[in-house]
Amino acid sequence: MSKRLNEEPQHPESAMQTRRDALMIGAGLLAAPLVASVIPAAYAAEASTSAGDGPFPAHAYGATSVTSPLVPLQIERRALGPKDVLLDVLYCGVCHSDIHTVRGEWGPTPSPCVPGHEIVGRVLAVGKAVTKFKVGDIGGVGCLVNSCGTCENCLADLEQYCLNGFTLTYASPDSSKAGHTLGGYSDKIVVTEHFVIRIPPGADLAATAPLLCAGITTFSPMQHWKLAAGQRVGVIGLGGLGHVAVKLAVARKAEVTVFTTSQGKITDAKRLGAREAVLSTDTAAMKGLAAKFDLLISTVPEAFPMQPFINLLKLDGTLVNVGAMNPLEDVHGLGLARARRSLAGSIIGGIAETQEVIDYCTTRNIKADIELIRIEDVNRAYERVVNKDVRYRFVIDMASLKAGSQPRS
Ligand SMILES: [Zn+2]
Ligand SMILES: [Zn+2]
Repeated sequence: MSKRLNEEPQHPESAMQTRRDALMIGAGLLAAPLVASVIPAAYAAEASTSAGDGPFPAHAYGATSVTSPLVPLQIERRALGPKDVLLDVLYCGVCHSDIHTVRGEWGPTPSPCVPGHEIVGRVLAVGKAVTKFKVGDIGGVGCLVNSCGTCENCLADLEQYCLNGFTLTYASPDSSKAGHTLGGYSDKIVVTEHFVIRIPPGADLAATAPLLCAGITTFSPMQHWKLAAGQRVGVIGLGGLGHVAVKLAVARKAEVTVFTTSQGKITDAKRLGAREAVLSTDTAAMKGLAAKFDLLISTVPEAFPMQPFINLLKLDGTLVNVGAMNPLEDVHGLGLARARRSLAGSIIGGIAETQEVIDYCTTRNIKADIELIRIEDVNRAYERVVNKDVRYRFVIDMASLKAGSQPRS
């Protein structure tokens, strides 16, 4: 795993040189002919104006308070460091976490809050020491943009469990400069290369974006708990995370049951490949499934009574919560003990595993079911997410930000 912190040259002149080099590479001036041939002229021209020798402005959508809608903003991106990649953001998914954070539902939110951690973009410029990307490549950024890089969990490619605190893509204290991080509802973002995922050729870019959060969040527990062909897995909640979980579990040839509270999603669950779909309010159906499951993955973004689901686990089964990040409800000690069941949690995944899920999905043509929206429709999209009225992920076409919005400085 590459080291990436504090690698800015200490001497001001060498820093300037690095930025100049980065710019020149971005403009195609230092690039080999092969690279130049894949850089659209518009990108090369834009690169020469978008990343100066210092921080540079970018257009974004964000909220200035937890009660405000998202509005056009002008923000500042940091100057490109030697290990940094500048992405021209093409698509950004709308995750329920964005809404929780914008609205201050997970604690205080810094202002302005520019959400977005399902980012796919084209590389506009790279720092002098970057080896993973060249200009014109497609890169993805998920929930993490930095971690300590030295603790035992980081060294084990588990940056999401960094013992010294990772840096989230938005609303997180920024380890690279003063202030907090600003996410992907923006036309440009600068991220250290270790945290940028390679998006393979042939990927459907808009429908791949949600895999950077929803995909890895559900893939990681399937890997850790070794979900195997023929095992019974239950996916609780059929939303942005849940629908990807179903596709991933079906790809592993597991027998998938979806638990939902929406009658309208029963048919969808089967279309997505689930063997059965159950209304979790149907107590008779729930009782009939007692002690049947090897693994349950809960994607519901709010707390709900868990014991009725724990009862569905067979001996040594595990319920993994990846959705609710507040106090859980109704877990009974004996209910766990009498079948040596486990209740566990899991959060996103490390960078190597995120690369793995992106490669895995591209190879198998697994992608999110998306509704592409323009940036000015994002507030309405939030309402629809809260009202469970999306099949199954909104993705913002960032061309709409470049085309139409008037940033407010
Ligand atoms: Zn997310
Ligand atoms: Zn660490």
